[in-house]
Amino acid sequence: MAKRTAKAGTAGRFGARYGVVIRNRIKTIEAHQKGRHECPVCHHESVKRVSSGIWECKRCGAKFAASAYSPKTKKEISAVSEE
Ligand SMILES: [Zn+2]
Repeated sequence: MAKRTAKAGTAGRFGARYGVVIRNRIKTIEAHQKGRHECPVCHHESVKRVSSGIWECKRCGAKFAASAYSPKTKKEISAVSEE
């Protein structure tokens, strides 16, 4: 990746607008949203977001509903944080 957006990440498209806190929040969420995640069926890091709340494994083809920005549901996220 070009170094120019290494710090700004995906929030680099906003330039200097909207404030750092909001841009950083967007960056964190989008990194999670656009990244690869573990498949609940085959356990490979191949799950990508198809659309808001729709996730698909590129390896085994499993398609499932979860959170809009995360392939885990709110319940699963809170279960992990309670450990
Ligand atoms: Zn899979």
